[in-house]
Amino acid sequence: MKNLWNDETAEKLVADYAKKGVGRDLALRVYTTRLLGGVPQLVLHGGGNTSCKIKATDLVGDEWDVLCVKGSGRDMAVIEPQGLPAVKMGALLKARALDKLADEDMVALQRANLIDPSSPNPSVETLLHAFLPHKFVDHTHSTAILAIVDQEDSKPLVKTVFGSKMGYVPYIMPGFDLAKAAADVFDADPTVEGLILDKHGIFTFGDDAKQAYDRMIHYVNVAEEYVAENAKPKAAKAALPARLATPASIAPMLRGAVAVARGEGRFDRMISDFRTSDAIVDFINSAAIADYAGRGVSTPDLSIRIKTGPMAVPAPDADKVGDYKAVIKSHVDAFAKDYRAYFETNDALDDVKRTMLDPMPRLTLVPGLGMFGHGRTLKDARIASDVGEMWIEAVRGAEAVGRFHPLSKADLFPLEYWSLEQAKLASNKPKPLTGQVVLITGGAGAIGAATAKLFADNGAHAVVVDLDGDKAADTAKKAGNNSIGVAADITDPAQVRAAFDKAVAVFGGVDILVSNAGAAWEGRIGELDDALLRKSFELNFFAHQSVAQNAVRIMLEQGTGGVLLFNTSKQAVNPGPKFGAYGVPKAATLFLSRQYALDYGAHGIRSNAVNADRIRSGLLTDAMIASRSGARGVSEKEYMSGNLLGQEVTAQDVAQAFLHHALAERTTADVTTVDGGNIAAALR
Ligand SMILES: [Zn+2]
Repeated sequence: MKNLWNDETAEKLVADYAKKGVGRDLALRVYTTRLLGGVPQLVLHGGGNTSCKIKATDLVGDEWDVLCVKGSGRDMAVIEPQGLPAVKMGALLKARALDKLADEDMVALQRANLIDPSSPNPSVETLLHAFLPHKFVDHTHSTAILAIVDQEDSKPLVKTVFGSKMGYVPYIMPGFDLAKAAADVFDADPTVEGLILDKHGIFTFGDDAKQAYDRMIHYVNVAEEYVAENAKPKAAKAALPARLATPASIAPMLRGAVAVARGEGRFDRMISDFRTSDAIVDFINSAAIADYAGRGVSTPDLSIRIKTGPMAVPAPDADKVGDYKAVIKSHVDAFAKDYRAYFETNDALDDVKRTMLDPMPRLTLVPGLGMFGHGRTLKDARIASDVGEMWIEAVRGAEAVGRFHPLSKADLFPLEYWSLEQAKLASNKPKPLTGQVVLITGGAGAIGAATAKLFADNGAHAVVVDLDGDKAADTAKKAGNNSIGVAADITDPAQVRAAFDKAVAVFGGVDILVSNAGAAWEGRIGELDDALLRKSFELNFFAHQSVAQNAVRIMLEQGTGGVLLFNTSKQAVNPGPKFGAYGVPKAATLFLSRQYALDYGAHGIRSNAVNADRIRSGLLTDAMIASRSGARGVSEKEYMSGNLLGQEVTAQDVAQAFLHHALAERTTADVTTVDGGNIAAALR
């Protein structure tokens, strides 16, 4: 591991923060915290913590000795001084004399002694930092250190690897008891430069930021070198099928299997993030991968990301991909059953009232292919994959020098269900469409863009499909929530297939289709050029069929239902003069919607249409509005609001109708009119 300290960068940060009133020590504390936080082999997404002991002045001018310690759950890679709240040292040090301190009381004590009461909660490892006398204390969950401590009896190995310069602390759950035990180990030999925490990680300390950081990197390197020099021959590889199925062919099956059934055909769905590399595949092709996965997480705080550990499934055979859905389901069922047993057994040991979290795996290892991280959002799914990569590194190292033997699941349980850990996740309240993927054609147009934004605001990830790839990407960016843009001519079935493949590659599947793309051509029906009518049918009918077919293919693989939504226009029920080339295929699409409702209702797949009229868009441009209103001798405003409500209907109103249909879980074969009221076009 490289030591990234750079005098110039450090001094520049000190100078920049000095202008903002931040002192040298805290500025350097921020600097090395970021250095540590930027390396996944040291800390991941909110893990790890650092501190420094300085003086701070309160609002009435009193000066205090304080501990500036990382806020709970804060990401070290992007920490700011505000992310290191200052806690008065006096009260923290007094706590060491106590025999017991409940977690809630510990949090209360820390909060009560904040210099700024609006600060984030100080880390759960605050007392450990406070009880050590050094000015700077660094703590990481280094994978190389975990390779050494995730052993059945790690104490002698720690002694061999690190000698007498590092203290050894047996496993204790983070909190008051661990802080006291660690301080006792230090007091027994104050010459140590750090502490190795069994099954957990490493602390180093120093008189200045550089010394604590240098020691961290040094001891991580000592561990890395030991692992490299003492590696045993590689474990045997599993036999793989001659032809492997592709990740895309199994992703929807897997995504469907890990969705949480709420009963009555309703699901809390998850996003899947596929991750692969030579290193990942090489490791998970081991014959022992299911055994490793079953042993658990490499450091306990990963349980909030991947629960009790990964799930390993057999390699998928391309020639038997039809049978693979059942294989996945049996593995997910077994994982969930084990998880329930783990919860029930450990929950029964005390009187604490807990609610079981969903029992689904968050990381699936697929020999031959790679791994899938699962989460309610793409962000969470990616975090699960990140955790998976570091789990692999730690397990590989532990197996190289001995046998991977992490914290037992009985000891993991109080940590996974610790109120302080769960609080880190509590801020992610699900939205109505969280976990769902919507694919929108004509996505960069007025209606498409309004729909993408509204769906993303409601928690869905949008796949914005448009002829114009740049506009699609721009629309997706504006919609937010990690939405993506895809360029495709949807009258070409191969391009439609590629767009759906992209949705599967990024998110794992599709739950909602908004088949919205369309274009209008004018002319009296009896005199229409045949080629023009056929061209209109390609876009206004066959493209709807093509995208719906692809959506249904994926939805059936997932087995969690879904919804098809078609933009059919008022023309489908109430023809306008010289608009046959547009209206006739739209009428067919209205029936297409009903046919899908009929044929796939038994699979929980709903199908509805939105029947919109006179929306300012690419189909009805400002120039067209000016010409048509002029021809009728009315103002543009009168033309656009020529309906029963007397109000212009907008793309936003159409998007709202699509959202309504996505959420109305018992509505199918329906047509919703969004035209401000037009009796001639009213549906019976
Ligand atoms: Zn820790």
